[in-house]
Amino acid sequence: MQRRTFLKATALGGGVALGFDVSRAEAEMRALKIARTTETRSICPYCAVSCGVIIHTLGDKSKNVKPAVVHVEGDPDHPISRGSLCPKGATLRDDITHKNRLLHPKVRRPGSDHWEDISWDDAVSQIARHIKDTRDRTFVAKNAKGQVVNRTPGIAMIGGCTDTNEFNYLQWKVVTALGVPYRDTQARV
Ligand code: SF4
Repeated sequence: MQRRTFLKATALGGGVALGFDVSRAEAEMRALKIARTTETRSICPYCAVSCGVIIHTLGDKSKNVKPAVVHVEGDPDHPISRGSLCPKGATLRDDITHKNRLLHPKVRRPGSDHWEDISWDDAVSQIARHIKDTRDRTFVAKNAKGQVVNRTPGIAMIGGCTDTNEFNYLQWKVVTALGVPYRDTQARV
């Protein structure tokens, strides 16, 4: 058999190899990749388009089982992207599993030359402490003309693109109540 004839009869044969119908075997191979995964719906974190993704994780959540993200794909039910992802979103799995990915809040103390891990509870309480202290220190009740402005120019706030419009609306309300004038979100509230 010539090489060209062999390829035509196998790989290019539309599911027929050497006279056998392999389409069912090919279909089963495709299904196996995500057959035992847990699906988690999320949002691509890279830009304001906020495409929907489905993250496939291996592991049945039982004790001593370490879950592993094995596949990320576009979410066909997502109203914004309808399953589409650009190259950054399509390679999301590599970022989720990358060894340099940050998994904990970090803090660099005044005068320190390195970052250290802290718990989420400590991070939240320390952020709250900094916000209170900074607002007390920088609050401006009236401008130079004596007009009431009630602003806190010592703080800026940025909402993330993975935050929903609703979350960004709420955080906008909170920082407005604090008098923070420098604020933005990718949701363009
Ligand atoms: S997949 Fe691409 S276009 Fe969609 S949110 Fe991610 S970076 Fe933006």
